[in-house]
Amino acid sequence: MPRYVYDFASGNKELKDLLGGKGANLSEMTNLGLPVPPGFTVTTEACRAYLVSGAEPRELHDEVMAHLEALEKRTGRRLGQPDDPLLVSVRSGARFSMPGMMDTILNIGLNDSSVAGLAERSGDERFAWDSYRRLIQMFGTTVLGVDGGLFEAALEETKQEREVTDDLDLDAEDLRALAETFKRLIVGHAGRPMPQDPVEQLNLAIRAVFASWNGDRARVYRRREHIPDDLGTAVNVMAMVFGNLGEDSGTGVAFTRDPGTGRPGVYGDYLTDAQGEDVVAGIRNTVPLQELERINPEAYEELLGIMKTLEDHYRDLCDIEFTIERGRLWMLQTRVGKRTAAAAFRIATQLAEQGLIDADEALHRVSGAQLAQLMFPRFDTTAGVEPIARGVNASPGAAVGRAVFDSGTAVRRALEGERVILIRHETNPDDLEGMIAAEGVLTGRGGKTSHAAVVARGMGKTCVCGVETLEVDLAGRRCVAPGGVVIEEGDLISIDGSSGAVYRGTVPVVPSAVVEYFEGRSHPHGSADLVTAVDRIMSRADERRRLRVRANADTPEDAERARRFGAEGIGLCRTEHMFLGERRPLVERLILADTPQERQAALDALLPLQRRDFTGILRAMDGLPVTIRLIDPPLHEFLPDLTELSVRVALAEERARPDAEQARLLEAVRRLHEQNPMLGLRGVRLGLVVPGLFAMQVRAIGEAVAERRKAGGDPHAEIMIPLVGATAELAIVAEESRTVLARVAEETGVDVRCPIGTMIELPRAALTAGRLAREARFFSFGTNDLTQTTWGFSRDDVEGAFFAPYLDKGIFQTSPFETLDLEGVGRLIEIAVREGRATRPDLALGVCGEHGGDPASVHFFHTVGLDYVSCSPFRVPVARLEAARAAAAESRR
Ligand code: PEP
Ligand code: MG
Repeated sequence: MPRYVYDFASGNKELKDLLGGKGANLSEMTNLGLPVPPGFTVTTEACRAYLVSGAEPRELHDEVMAHLEALEKRTGRRLGQPDDPLLVSVRSGARFSMPGMMDTILNIGLNDSSVAGLAERSGDERFAWDSYRRLIQMFGTTVLGVDGGLFEAALEETKQEREVTDDLDLDAEDLRALAETFKRLIVGHAGRPMPQDPVEQLNLAIRAVFASWNGDRARVYRRREHIPDDLGTAVNVMAMVFGNLGEDSGTGVAFTRDPGTGRPGVYGDYLTDAQGEDVVAGIRNTVPLQELERINPEAYEELLGIMKTLEDHYRDLCDIEFTIERGRLWMLQTRVGKRTAAAAFRIATQLAEQGLIDADEALHRVSGAQLAQLMFPRFDTTAGVEPIARGVNASPGAAVGRAVFDSGTAVRRALEGERVILIRHETNPDDLEGMIAAEGVLTGRGGKTSHAAVVARGMGKTCVCGVETLEVDLAGRRCVAPGGVVIEEGDLISIDGSSGAVYRGTVPVVPSAVVEYFEGRSHPHGSADLVTAVDRIMSRADERRRLRVRANADTPEDAERARRFGAEGIGLCRTEHMFLGERRPLVERLILADTPQERQAALDALLPLQRRDFTGILRAMDGLPVTIRLIDPPLHEFLPDLTELSVRVALAEERARPDAEQARLLEAVRRLHEQNPMLGLRGVRLGLVVPGLFAMQVRAIGEAVAERRKAGGDPHAEIMIPLVGATAELAIVAEESRTVLARVAEETGVDVRCPIGTMIELPRAALTAGRLAREARFFSFGTNDLTQTTWGFSRDDVEGAFFAPYLDKGIFQTSPFETLDLEGVGRLIEIAVREGRATRPDLALGVCGEHGGDPASVHFFHTVGLDYVSCSPFRVPVARLEAARAAAAESRR
């Protein structure tokens, strides 16, 4: 038989699923012998039953009554007893903290007669009526659905009549009259009177808390925080203690450490003669907790003792709510407290040093997301600057620069040594060079999964997108913020990718100490130092992880930085970027060549350039593997724009000056034009239809290896074939590559053999991995394309089109381009891992899609047994940490 109600003395902190966070921790404190007012918890299971059927489970009423009776016996008073009433609070408390999202009702048990008993017993008539009017107000709004504004307005009116501004200046008679007014409001707006039966009050309050799980606020909050909708909330019923019984009473909140920095000490706020709600509402000014030492030294000493007990017991920062009733301290809540990223690192290392937690637990206490936060520069906003607009905080960081409105200008001004912020409606691949050149990117449209957001995050570049209140006028080279603030091209602006704020002018920036440390420009100093904490955690992470971490890099500079950040090789060197800029005409000539001679001329021109590219990267990654992917261009990026060219040719014809060369080009571009370039002549397909292209690249790799070896280096190139779907595609290219390498070996006298492998980025490749592995020494999962092709949508087209409503409707928890879709794409990876290794037990396995740097996805890649993840240089430390956390989590399980 299910049990729906637990006395505080019968639960414990492990039962959060059943008792919610608050209930489980109240039980834990009760068992520790701390002064917790007695009470009981109605389980989340009861709530779930209510949410499914619309009615409380049959046994619930009897169980609540039995626990209420026990509570009455312990306190020696009955709920609502007219001469000396037991009063209770009814509070929500789910598995995950959802602050303020669900309901709370205090002072249950007061009615027209017990209010007199409370006045009598407390010797304070004003207090009794104030408690009653608060009950009616809370009950009216949360249980009976009366508009809370009506009660507020009535309270305001009373204050005006009495010519006072503070609630505290209303006397008992005012509050009694107000209670009567409130009751009339309930009759008028809820169509029923305020219930006078205390047990009915209790039952209705419990039901209201259940129902508040599905309130609008709670649903929106859950969606944002990725909390499942079907957990339900527990309900905590606790004997009331009062902090508003005069000068010797009060209420407060405290932390066992500073949640901002992690430093040990006494942190908190205290408010004399007040209830908990007053502290949060900020009606009166609180005093620092240290003041309590003067106000009530015994309670202060006791509180400090309890805080130490809690921190030693939970082995973590705890936050606490307490009340002092006539000098006596009561604990109302504790939980492991939220903290900043810096505090998380400091606390984890300090507790490990104190021996309170072991090294694996320290890894568990921090996260890759927190590390990423610590790596971005921040604005120093202490000067009180005000933003001119706000958008989506798409990629964290603080960037300052001059506004520019197109990619070309961004590149040009950056070359001139200026810092620029690229402003667009939204970005597309044509903006890439401008994005690289800019300090940060700002867009008027698009959300967290827009092109700008995704690319900027990949580059570790600051981005604020979807600033809808900003009117971007590209043609006029300016934008206008609300209030008519105009930003012209060249004006200085500052954008904060962590908050989404946009500022006019320069806001001072504080560099990230953690990046300085990874770059080798600063060193750990002292135990309170953040860099020391990061250093300790990262050292432990590197010992602990099984997964290797490589970087996606295609320039020597990126490769060097990746190495400083701890990369153990390059998992993806994309070569198509090497064909842009001034080399683009060569590629155009290659693709459009009519004769073998023309084609060969283009290839001959490209070969030395490519060799130089590879030599530089192999030098930067000397001694470590470098996986070079043969070219995988979306073809249209290398061809003249069809529309532009058509117009040019048409104009020339109209002027009776036809240009034969242009007309020939147009014909070729028409022939190669694709409706869906993402699904077109890409990857290995292009390599198979443009003779000599792959062979030229392989030759450049072979010659670069030979050159490096002759120079005394230790190059480890690996050749990777993109977008393979059939084993034969791979077999043909692999064979051709081996032939080319053998020829280079002959010419140079250096053994330049390299492992040849393939990307797995099409479902067909994953499903035929067993056969592909005969031809491939390694697989690298291209989860960007594998996500596109598994879902059947193209990222460039769909993110702006429907991702936002899909996230809102909960179809996606997160974008599948950010966190791997385990059910679909993950399953394909599992199949490919299993079947690939069955063919070739020493098959090396990695991932080089963006997911390689995403914390949740890294855990999956660990579990599925990959050898390495590869991600952008900036994400390398995050991946190192998460790989270790995954290994530690596996041991815990
Ligand atoms: C991928 O598809 O995951 C991949 C890494 O290749 P690209 O992003 O270059 O298509
Ligand atoms: Mg790809």
